[in-house]
Amino acid sequence: MAILVLPRTLDAPVEKLPDIGPTNARRLEKLGIRTIRDLLLALPFGWESYGGPTAISSLSPGTQATVVGFVKSINAKQSLRRRIKLTEATIVDQDGASLRLVWFNMQFVARQLHKGDRIAVAGTVKLSRYSGLNMQNPHYERLDGVEEIQPARVGGMMPKYHLVDGLSSRRIARWVESALPLAGQLEDLLPPDVRERHHLLDVGDAVRRGHKPDNDEDYVEASRRMAFAELFELQAAFALMRNNIAVEPATPVRYRQEVIDAFKAGVGFELTTAQRRATWDAFKDMEGTVPMNRLLDGDVGSGKTAVAAACVAMAHGSGLQSVVMAPTEILARQHLRRFRAYLEDSFPGLTVELLVSSQSAPERRRVRAAAASHHCALVVGTHALIEDDVEFANLGLAVVDEQHRFGTRQRELLRGKGLGRPHFLAMTATPIPRTLALAVYGEMTLSVIDQMPPGRTPIETEVIDPDNRARAYDLVRKEVAAGRQAFVICPLIEESETLAARSATAEFERLQKDVFTDLKLDLIHGRLKNKEEIMQRFVAGDVQVLVATAVVEVGVDVPNATVMMIEGADRFGLAQLHQFRGRVGRGVAQGRCLLIADDPSENALNRLSLLTRVRDGFTLAEEDMKIRGMGELMGPRQHGMSDVAMVALEQPELLSEVREEAERLLESDPGFENHPLLKASVARRLELTSIS
Ligand code: ADP
Ligand code: MG
Repeated sequence: MAILVLPRTLDAPVEKLPDIGPTNARRLEKLGIRTIRDLLLALPFGWESYGGPTAISSLSPGTQATVVGFVKSINAKQSLRRRIKLTEATIVDQDGASLRLVWFNMQFVARQLHKGDRIAVAGTVKLSRYSGLNMQNPHYERLDGVEEIQPARVGGMMPKYHLVDGLSSRRIARWVESALPLAGQLEDLLPPDVRERHHLLDVGDAVRRGHKPDNDEDYVEASRRMAFAELFELQAAFALMRNNIAVEPATPVRYRQEVIDAFKAGVGFELTTAQRRATWDAFKDMEGTVPMNRLLDGDVGSGKTAVAAACVAMAHGSGLQSVVMAPTEILARQHLRRFRAYLEDSFPGLTVELLVSSQSAPERRRVRAAAASHHCALVVGTHALIEDDVEFANLGLAVVDEQHRFGTRQRELLRGKGLGRPHFLAMTATPIPRTLALAVYGEMTLSVIDQMPPGRTPIETEVIDPDNRARAYDLVRKEVAAGRQAFVICPLIEESETLAARSATAEFERLQKDVFTDLKLDLIHGRLKNKEEIMQRFVAGDVQVLVATAVVEVGVDVPNATVMMIEGADRFGLAQLHQFRGRVGRGVAQGRCLLIADDPSENALNRLSLLTRVRDGFTLAEEDMKIRGMGELMGPRQHGMSDVAMVALEQPELLSEVREEAERLLESDPGFENHPLLKASVARRLELTSIS
């Protein structure tokens, strides 16, 4: 008798499982699955529910069903009209009722199933005039003749796994099944008391039920457990980060009313309530020796800069320097002008300098010397700020704008310029639901600016049918004729930046040649080295229409740009579209945003029409979450979380429970010394730059 060699370890590569060769292993690797453990931990993201076997006579069109019957006929043929290969079959159930089956481009079915076979099929029931009741591309399983045998793999609840070309959910389910005996060996990261308090399955149970549930409840319980554990791990990492940050003290910034009075007098407008609240949050943080670590989240144009400027002023009042880092030179220069305008008049000793790599060497040397000798209170700049030779005499506050554009290391380098740890303020213009922010940026505290300065005319947003594109072009032309400028955003191409660049280039050439022949056009995409120069030309007004890919964040104020046309708008998230449109109408003139949808389905149009009615980015992010799910709100790799965790975040209570537990554990076991599994996983997470 042959000895069955079972893979003994969870850490073995998936190839150790039967029927997974190198090719399939490579496919699984694309899904992040390398070991048997990875395979077990990757629960299905959803289910098809076909129910148990049903008599053909009681099928109703439009539902999903399982049917058991005998194959009466089966044959493969070429479709006449299209180049499609069809496999057609008829099955008859025990009552003598028949059901037609058709598979497209799956000729192997005719080799696997034969006349007289007893089979089970599961699929969506359809009714057509020509073939009566039928199923297209149903799942199937041969039942080897005997009446009593019930389908094991088809019907009931069938898992949906993430796939790449060459894989099917059924194949993955088979591999998982062969790995399930090892589920009992999975280590549980969740401490038993946490599991008890929250009625969570242990990991082995969750994995078994998550892949092979007996009912909906099983899967719900399994995914709740898996999500909880994942979020727990993440929050444990954040709790540890917060503790680590608190260890190295910051210099407290004492609150001074006279600073605020001077700031108010100089800034030239009344702060909005939201700005005041955020400023107040920051002041309270800065008064302590635990360094501030705050994220300021607010729409484009909501006035985050003024909040940062107030903090800079307060730090200056305590004799501390500040630094502001922005991802591009244009943004840095914009900040330089703003901070000077906000601060220099009211605070005579407060000088603001710029540090970017395009400056001459002597100029950079001068700024470096000023920073190192405390001759300037604020240095604004780009990555040039984190070079080794940049030193500050007494840095008390570090601000990072568009913080998602920087890696953890870069932010750490900036913070490293301080004496001890400077207070830290990160800014982002990506409104996301509070729960998601807490889950993804959990090491920071959050201030939300959910209110726009008064007097801004909201951007008029319109969804335009692709057939009416000419009307959109006319609107663009009209604005340009009135001396304004326009953006044309090309459709999102997620596969590669090269493809996106190519399609934008083609669109640019087409527009120049056929549509805006008499206008000055330019093109900007992620592959171009001289992006800043192009933006500069646009800002200067030398370009009338700027064609851009989605990868290029047009994060600059161009008050003269009044219209933005977005192609393939249905492929973007609402929050992202909202961010785009925030770039027009920043001057006095009315801004317009024209959304062209490739997919004119009712769903797509309904979703886009929200943009015509809703102006607030946070509301849109919430809506987007409801419609498309939390997972779609950020790029897939950006959040580094599994589907079950993202779905779980849709219930805010869960996250606060998780946070509480993580904090409680860290308090009783600083550094997680008594929880080595958790400690190791937290350490791994802290190394990933995708966090924070
Ligand atoms: P963000 O960085 O959040 O996108 P900015 O700080 O660039 O926004 O502010 C956008 C514009 O609104 C700037 O011109 C700024 O001077 C102005 N602004 C900011 N706050 C107010 C306010 N409370 N009242 C009037 N204008 C404001
Ligand atoms: Mg800004």
